[in-house]
Amino acid sequence: MASDQQIDMFGDGLSATVSEDFDAEQIPTSASVPIPSGVYDDLNRLKAHCDRCHRCELGETRTKAVVSRGNPNADILIVGEGPGQNEDETGLPFVGKAGQLLEKILASVKLDSEQEVYICNIVKCRPPNNRTPTTQEMDACRPYLLEQIRMVDPKIILLTGASSVKGLIGDKRGITKIRGTWMEWENRLCMPIFHPAYLLRNQSRQKGSPKWLMWQDIQEVRAKYDELRGAASSN
Ligand code: SF4
Repeated sequence: MASDQQIDMFGDGLSATVSEDFDAEQIPTSASVPIPSGVYDDLNRLKAHCDRCHRCELGETRTKAVVSRGNPNADILIVGEGPGQNEDETGLPFVGKAGQLLEKILASVKLDSEQEVYICNIVKCRPPNNRTPTTQEMDACRPYLLEQIRMVDPKIILLTGASSVKGLIGDKRGITKIRGTWMEWENRLCMPIFHPAYLLRNQSRQKGSPKWLMWQDIQEVRAKYDELRGAASSN
């Protein structure tokens, strides 16, 4: 790479000069090292960096970094907040009770979580006692997520819960206000939805309840997915 080559350092359209001696192997060592857009050429290398990452304090207490599961060629990418205990132990996102409910939600509209969906998190390492990740932790980890999104290149991004919305697109509004709404971010279609863990705490299925609203939202996602795939196959 030429020493004055311009590349997108922050994944947000800003560009900066990266010197010829930029060493990507330093990325996991400190949040002060940028993660330039396009620095990873495959997801395995990104995972290897996350596995040994100490860009934030969560790297001190994790058992396993939780990078993704599902199909890296999927058209739907789901973003969670961060790993819980089950995820920390297995290294896989959404495998606890909330994950089982997510499976049911996807299956209700015949979406296969291994084939048609790629699942990842804002932060890859478990926050102690399942606390909400801090802004600093999300900022340190977000560039990995931006690279995952760039490489998977999904048609639809589903953001589960307010932290995922805030962590990826910076929208701080409450999830009840914005769930079920299509948003455009970086030329991609995003929809905030309730986090499955929230649905576990709100079991009512009555009209207007969180579970009922999720059922409306996932049907809308399925319809948009079919529409986009139909449009792609007719081109
Ligand atoms: S949460 Fe992200 S930034 Fe922090 S140590 Fe884990 S992989 Fe690195």
